[in-house]
Amino acid sequence: MSRGWNTDGRGLSVTLFGTRGSLPAPGPDTTRYGGNTSCVMVKNSAGQALILDAGSGVRIAGMRLPKDVKRVDLLLTHLHMDHIQGLGFFAPLYTPGLDVHLWGPPSTTRTLRSRLNRYLSPPLFPVRIRELPSRVHCHDVTQGEWEIGDFKVRSALVAHPDPTLGYRLESEGRIVTYLPDHEPQLGCRTGLPTTEWLSGHHLAEGADLLIHDAQYTEDEYLARVGWGHCTPTLAVRFAELVRARRLLFFHHDPSRSDGEVERICGEATRTHKQGMLVTGPAAEMDEIKV
Ligand SMILES: [Zn+2]
Ligand SMILES: [Zn+2]
Repeated sequence: MSRGWNTDGRGLSVTLFGTRGSLPAPGPDTTRYGGNTSCVMVKNSAGQALILDAGSGVRIAGMRLPKDVKRVDLLLTHLHMDHIQGLGFFAPLYTPGLDVHLWGPPSTTRTLRSRLNRYLSPPLFPVRIRELPSRVHCHDVTQGEWEIGDFKVRSALVAHPDPTLGYRLESEGRIVTYLPDHEPQLGCRTGLPTTEWLSGHHLAEGADLLIHDAQYTEDEYLARVGWGHCTPTLAVRFAELVRARRLLFFHHDPSRSDGEVERICGEATRTHKQGMLVTGPAAEMDEIKV
């Protein structure tokens, strides 16, 4: 990376609690890159943390928060199960009186709280949101910018089925962009358009760290156009277009072994010829300094 975290004592720490897409995939073939579904914690040097998505990895993320935390912010990209299935096991929700802010995509028909209640209620789950001892605040996020503590947050709808947000988090002069489920090439016959209208461009432009969907092989993608995902090679092209400094291949397919993740991400990395971009597969429990 071009800017070191410790040179000025400031910067962001990014911890990957879940890197898998679609379905948890624990087992001997996934020990390196992990089996938990999407969850990332971004923390600044003052200790303020934002959590991205509530896949099965959010259970551990919740346990890593300081015991005396006064407020917790969890930003959901969308409500596909692999991004919310850990919510009922998120410890802060069971802390009496703690303010827990859940941010998530908008809908024209039901509020975020109402949509989350579909999962957090019988028969799918025994506890309803209203029965939780914490104070849960649900925010239907519209596209735009706002502040959470020292973080500037930008969100926008991106190319993925059902309303799906991408997030750009900025603090201490560093930018982390999170696009775990993203098909920017949808509708493009030949590669990606070089335009700022490209899905996700406004969120990822100049990011110090871009966490991006890389779920499918080339053959898988051809059979699944419109399912909302990307190949590692297209993720590299996207990162080049937006001039990201570092790309993490994310949302590994549940059928992919560690060796296969390394192979397809390695092949994509070799297609990159220019500039400063650093790439690699996201590995569960890795902590990255930005
Ligand atoms: Zn997903
Ligand atoms: Zn999804």
